[in-house]
Amino acid sequence: MRTGIEVDEARRLVLSGRAPLAAEVVATTAALGRVLALPVASGRTLPPADCSAMDGYAVRATDLAAARRSAPCRLPLAFEVPAGGSAPRPLRPGEAARIFTGAPLPAGADSVVMQEEAVAEGAVVCFSAAPARGEHVRAAGEDVRAGEVVLAAGARLGPAQLGLLASLGRSVVRVHRRPHVAILSGGDELVEADEDVAGGRIVASNAYSLAAQCLEAGATTMNLGIARDTPAELERGFSAGLGADVLVSSAGVSVGDHDHVRPVLEKLGCRLVFFGVAMKPGYPLTFGHFDDGRGPLVFGLPGNPVSAMVTFELFVRPLLLRLGGHAVLTRPQLRVVLGETLRKKSGRQHFVRVTLAREGAQWVARSTGNQSSGVLRSMALAQGLLVFPAAAGELAAGESADVLVLDRDVLAAPEPP
Ligand code: AMP
Ligand code: MG
Repeated sequence: MRTGIEVDEARRLVLSGRAPLAAEVVATTAALGRVLALPVASGRTLPPADCSAMDGYAVRATDLAAARRSAPCRLPLAFEVPAGGSAPRPLRPGEAARIFTGAPLPAGADSVVMQEEAVAEGAVVCFSAAPARGEHVRAAGEDVRAGEVVLAAGARLGPAQLGLLASLGRSVVRVHRRPHVAILSGGDELVEADEDVAGGRIVASNAYSLAAQCLEAGATTMNLGIARDTPAELERGFSAGLGADVLVSSAGVSVGDHDHVRPVLEKLGCRLVFFGVAMKPGYPLTFGHFDDGRGPLVFGLPGNPVSAMVTFELFVRPLLLRLGGHAVLTRPQLRVVLGETLRKKSGRQHFVRVTLAREGAQWVARSTGNQSSGVLRSMALAQGLLVFPAAAGELAAGESADVLVLDRDVLAAPEPP
């Protein structure tokens, strides 16, 4: 087991060799946010035939070449083509057909005049402009051609992709399975959110924030509840989560007398890969796996609420995204200017919870206040995590730094006047 490793090295150890989970078939209506496991080739041409893009009249452009406002052309109305219908016969030279949006163009017609530019006079239609050939016609296959790969393996399914799949007749789709995460809370002081906190008890709030972080990363969750600080209870708790893809516990992972997480994991056969990452918050982070590759990947997160969330963000989230098949594992990064001076001891990389404000041409980051790893409000107010490099002891106001953007919406903030 390695200890005291750098953030980048820990991330590499967590991610290396991890592949997306196997595929499963799900209803397309339930596939939002999932990732295609196989490329999708179309069995259809869309539109299947040349069709009208407007409500109006199908014509041959040459029949109206001389039409103008001062000298309109009149054509007899031969038949009507409704959307979903078809022409009873080809359009003969010198005829017009009533046509509606999406209806197939009759053979012989090559253009559509929108109804706003024609006047129906009983069985005759009066045109006062010459259409360009092909005007208001959607060409067969202009969207999709049969046989064409329209979505690649690895494509993330958003609203447009789901609509496209449906238009190809795909009511089910093959996507990577969602990772399933079991969450265990450890600590003698912990109670559930609706229980009494008298006598120094605290709510096991990590189970809430971590489960929400899992859901945001596309995982499903199972709450294993609270285990007291005894090896036997922890063993029972962890054992209940061995069927998950990822097992996440919080607390009890440090070096105190009541921190039994690591020995219990080892007793269960988990091989610990590292303990201790040179970062703040979150030093005691522990990661391990089972040698036969059958058990879950295991994270022992620190118990402090901010440490648990930040280590999840930096290590568990990218792993869950990878397992779910996602290509992009990182947050957007922003180069910012410090709105105030930050200081720390050199040696560990800090992740400072900051707000982000657009000021003129630059983004300005300011601390969300008390950065203690027990102050969950610092995280609740945070729009980003500012990376305070390990070697630095001070970042002066006006200096630049990188921020991992947690809340994409801030990027849409308007530029101030
Ligand atoms: P530990 O890692 O066990 O020393 O816990 C560090 C701190 O995190 C202590 O103040 C704990 O009370 C707190 N803590 C531990 N588990 C949780 C949890 N599930 N939710 C919220 N806070 C916790
Ligand atoms: Mg504890």
